[in-house]
Amino acid sequence: MSDIPKYYKTNLIDIENCKKAVNKAKVVTLCHSAGGRPVYMFCYGKQNVFRRTANLSSALGGHNKGCFADKTSMDYIPTLLLVGCVHGGEFEGTAALLNLINIIETGYDLAKTKFLELKSLCEKVNLLIIPCINPDGRSHIPFDSFIGKSFTELRYYNQGTWADGTLCGWPECKLRHPIKDYVDYLGGYFNDDGINLMHDDFFGKKADETQALFSVCEQYVPDFTVLLHGGTNTKNCVLGPAYAPAQIKKRVSQLDELLKSACAEQNLEYYVAHKDSDYGEKKEIPVSFNLPSALTQLCGEPCVTYESNQGLTDCPNGKGYSYDEIYSHHLILFKTLIEYLTQKRPV
Ligand SMILES: [Zn+2]
Repeated sequence: MSDIPKYYKTNLIDIENCKKAVNKAKVVTLCHSAGGRPVYMFCYGKQNVFRRTANLSSALGGHNKGCFADKTSMDYIPTLLLVGCVHGGEFEGTAALLNLINIIETGYDLAKTKFLELKSLCEKVNLLIIPCINPDGRSHIPFDSFIGKSFTELRYYNQGTWADGTLCGWPECKLRHPIKDYVDYLGGYFNDDGINLMHDDFFGKKADETQALFSVCEQYVPDFTVLLHGGTNTKNCVLGPAYAPAQIKKRVSQLDELLKSACAEQNLEYYVAHKDSDYGEKKEIPVSFNLPSALTQLCGEPCVTYESNQGLTDCPNGKGYSYDEIYSHHLILFKTLIEYLTQKRPV
């Protein structure tokens, strides 16, 4: 008998079932993964018209970002892009996103709890929800929750094993890319071609899943993009794009402060990761230019990683949260993001 709560749905069949159940969302198949699995985006709201006359680089070069995406019209609606399961063994966000979809559709989450305030908040923005951008990686994990599992199990299934059977681990699993030809067990980090989407070849030929995200960001220019991850037993936190203009880093800090207060109100821990650091960009080995930096540069708006606690039983970096704590953290994140985007925007 599983002790996974009924509302905690994270697998690819759950996403298919969600797709069949929705009435309000327009569901788009963005691409098929390296292993041929569909990647879905659930769209709520209406797409803004940007009157684009230049790409972002050229628009900024001409000192007018509006030539890339004019967001000044009276009927402009802020857009939020939420992306789950970038790494296949990190589906805490997927569980929360499937609940969020249910809340938008019915006013109730999958535990049948009423969320009318969050539902009406969601109606104030365009919401683009990708429950699982890495379905291949998700298919490499043969169960639906890491809560109550060990750190070793997470490492085995998420980062996989080298050809000799030893654990790849983090961050060493990043030292072979694509990793496919070096492994015995291909972990959830990777699509079936062994690509870690966070570190794809952004200036070269990209995986279709990465290209799909690029296309969404270019087309919709989301005001905020959040890539949902799990980070073992970390305190939940936002990791901003390392390579970004000061205005964007400022907006990430503003969100960070709001999340800190919102979590404190509910007696939940929150870690402000980038209080006054340079994000590691000036270290001797500079921080990598990864997917959040790439998407930020592509659309000129903040794209961040959100790290969630994964509820492991034993972990060097902290205690495991419960299902309810992990879920509550994500609902706070979604609510805070929408409140932030619908306030008068800082320039
Ligand atoms: Zn991750």
